[in-house]
Amino acid sequence: MRAEVLLPRAGGSATGAGRLYTYRVPEQLASRLVPGQLVAVPVGEQSAAGIVWALDASDDADCTPDAAGVAADGPRPVQALLLSEPLLTPAQRALTEWLASYYGAPLGAAARLMLPPGLLAGVRVLVYPTGTLPDGAPSSGALMPATLADGALADAAAVRGLLRERGHIERRQIKETLGGRRAAAVLDELLAHGEIRLALELPEAQTRTRRERTVRLVATPAALDAWRAATRAQLDALPALPARRPQRDGPREEHEAERRLRQLAVLDLLARARQDSQDIAEPAEPATTTVWRLEELRRLSRATDAALRELATAGLIAIEEADARHDPMAGRRIPRNDPLTLTAPQARALAAILAAAAQDAPASPGTPGRVFLLHGITGSGKTEVYLQALAAVIARGYRGLVLVPEIALTPQAMARFAGRFPGRVALLHSGLTPAERRDEWRRIRAGAVDIVLGSRSALFAPIERLGLIVVDEEHETAYKEELRPPTYHARDAAIQLGALTGAPVVLGSATPSIEAYALAQSGAFALLELRERAPASPAAAGEAPSPSAGVPPVTIVDLRAELRAGNTSILSERLQSELQATLDHGEQAILFLNRRGMASSVICRECGYAARCRNCDVSLTLHASERRQLLCHYCGRRQPVPETCPVCWSASIRFFGLGTERVEAAVKRQFPAARVLRWDRDTARSRQVHEELLLAFAERRADVLVGTQMIAKGLDLPGVTLVGVVSADIALFLPDFRATERAFQLLTQVAGRAGRGMAPGRVLLQTLNPEHFCIQSAARHDYAAFFAAEVSARQRYGYPPFRRFVKLTFAHRDRYTAQIEATVLGERLERLVAELRLPDTDLVGPAPAFLERLRAHYRWQLILRSPDPIPVLRALTRDDLPHGWSVDVDPMTNL
Ligand code: ADP
Ligand code: ZN
Ligand code: ZN
Repeated sequence: MRAEVLLPRAGGSATGAGRLYTYRVPEQLASRLVPGQLVAVPVGEQSAAGIVWALDASDDADCTPDAAGVAADGPRPVQALLLSEPLLTPAQRALTEWLASYYGAPLGAAARLMLPPGLLAGVRVLVYPTGTLPDGAPSSGALMPATLADGALADAAAVRGLLRERGHIERRQIKETLGGRRAAAVLDELLAHGEIRLALELPEAQTRTRRERTVRLVATPAALDAWRAATRAQLDALPALPARRPQRDGPREEHEAERRLRQLAVLDLLARARQDSQDIAEPAEPATTTVWRLEELRRLSRATDAALRELATAGLIAIEEADARHDPMAGRRIPRNDPLTLTAPQARALAAILAAAAQDAPASPGTPGRVFLLHGITGSGKTEVYLQALAAVIARGYRGLVLVPEIALTPQAMARFAGRFPGRVALLHSGLTPAERRDEWRRIRAGAVDIVLGSRSALFAPIERLGLIVVDEEHETAYKEELRPPTYHARDAAIQLGALTGAPVVLGSATPSIEAYALAQSGAFALLELRERAPASPAAAGEAPSPSAGVPPVTIVDLRAELRAGNTSILSERLQSELQATLDHGEQAILFLNRRGMASSVICRECGYAARCRNCDVSLTLHASERRQLLCHYCGRRQPVPETCPVCWSASIRFFGLGTERVEAAVKRQFPAARVLRWDRDTARSRQVHEELLLAFAERRADVLVGTQMIAKGLDLPGVTLVGVVSADIALFLPDFRATERAFQLLTQVAGRAGRGMAPGRVLLQTLNPEHFCIQSAARHDYAAFFAAEVSARQRYGYPPFRRFVKLTFAHRDRYTAQIEATVLGERLERLVAELRLPDTDLVGPAPAFLERLRAHYRWQLILRSPDPIPVLRALTRDDLPHGWSVDVDPMTNL
């Protein structure tokens, strides 16, 4: 029997990790080996950890050479099984293969996404003696060639000594002691003489759960009260406690008093937790509040073990052993969250999804799964549909996967899921500690949860019996991996996983991506629509329908007219008066602006004209390194900066850019009494600060929030009645094929932030381009009109989804090196495209990247555009790309 083995860490080289190597399966392993297992295999003189990818029963099949290139005596044997439980499920292996081929990435790089966190890093190399070691320095010297220096002899003797003493040593320890070069030399010598052998091992922590002692209250309230009363009476009878801690040899009574006091403290802590847990979703859940870690309880109460044992003997508390786990939801109070009565559109959407998920067994792998696009305006109740669909799937014995953009993983969002499925939700996001991540992974693997909720990497969790996949806010750029191969899009990979497991996939969005909506229009996805806001939360039940049940009205403010009327402020007359009214009513306002692309576009303030490239239909930008030249980032076309507007001959043509600070200052100047909060990348550096700022605003500790696009996401603030978009133009004129799509999404989302509560909301949209189809359709909340105009533009220029892009970026400290390298690769690509004769395939660039200088590196880029760019990419990366190149397949932006 042969095994095809993947070596995910092979030499760190992309090509080594990209292929499978053939090994012979020794007899004693033949019956135990299954695909997905972790094994140790020989690679040259070393051992490496690999994953069994496939098994082949034939013995004499022609096979690829093993990692060392040795094929003469047939493949070498698998050395050991490191872990009998398979690391990868069959669906995970299939998804890995898809990721590698669709994104032109090494198989090993794709497989690494699926491995338990930290597992490979935990594999240790151990050094064992092969037989009895020769003892003493003199005799050992005889085994070594005379050419060896004294130092090497001493090293060998030291290693032997350690092996005799301990039985085995970790190779890392030898390296740490002797340094890399000496360690390698001595190990090579000892290996060559057959004195030692190397073996791979997984540390226990990787495979076994830790156990820890826990404490919980078992006494009835009556018994508890009785014990407390008796103890207090007993304490009164004892002499008063001295100020200091009693000495070891102090009077017996003092110890007695202290112990009793500590015991009372223990019971107080436990009883308080029980009270708290009354409104926790599931009191019986062995989560965090009713059950205490013994260590924690001892630390807080300073009770001794003996004191605790005494309470256990008295039947008041129970001390138990349990699997220790790091719980990312620990310490949060999660209110119970009951299913709501669905509105008719919600019920229709739910029925459609459940009809697809109706089979008792998921469709056989390979049959395309059903994909739904749930298009519902913000607040239309999409989440409630997900929750009820998940509940139904779980009731049938399946599990659910819910992906949300990282930024949307707010405590409120987590609580909605955790409160509906108490104790059955695993959480995976980038804020987890490695230990938390590993424990969540293990819980999922063990089938201890029904729902996995997380950001994009949750897609790779080992979920068995997957019955439903939800991708919320499917249009979000956070779903895209941009740096490391495979540069996957979680939505597209989720659809693939759905097809592999037979689980239906629900994509949700208020502003679907052009890609997803195009597929829904073509019939490939089923379109489900929620056109109205859901009836407000149960708190509002019984009141008259609120005026905010619909979407807020949007007013377009023409900034060109403001300028003509002599108002040069960032805030139009209309925005100023609306702000005043909002403050007068004690309500809140959000002022929003898009900071990206600051001062880069050239826009005429009289007529709204923006300079665009004739070849590419994207904005031209001013480049810091190109004095007075406008540049197209697609094709490299240059033209001088116009002195006057080519449309209306006005001289008010200028670089457009605004910062949050300037808006904040303007508001403070006009409204000195208003409390203004600024939110941008500078003020909200960490997740914690982000949450704190939002909390301050939610608790109405400020009246006006000024911020960048980040505030547009996932906020539900009932106090906000006015949203002002300070400038809708910057987003619109970024030189990117997705600029209009992003602008529409942002405008729609910010607009959705107004009027979430009882008071009606309104939105003001300031722009220099009031007639632009993006502005117009956003103001009317008309996605369909926007889509129709945008998709035809994409088709005309051959932009995604009509062709796939591959963005190749080269970064170097030296500007000319970057330019030359990009030119060389560009020519190679041109040749490849010609040789492969791919239809509709072309190359844009080389051109400097939008941010040409980033982190002291100059960046040049090439964009390959083709209905299927992967053959070109494969041919290109067969030999590794030169260091410094990064490749993004299906980039979210060409910037
Ligand atoms: P979305 O996910 O589309 O933004 P949500 O699911 O968050 O919308 O719903 C918005 C609000 O409406 C929430 O407060 C939710 O509790 C409430 N809601 C949703 N569906 C219903 C319903 N059928 N009846 C009453 N309230 C609902
Ligand atoms: Zn003009
Ligand atoms: Zn161009």
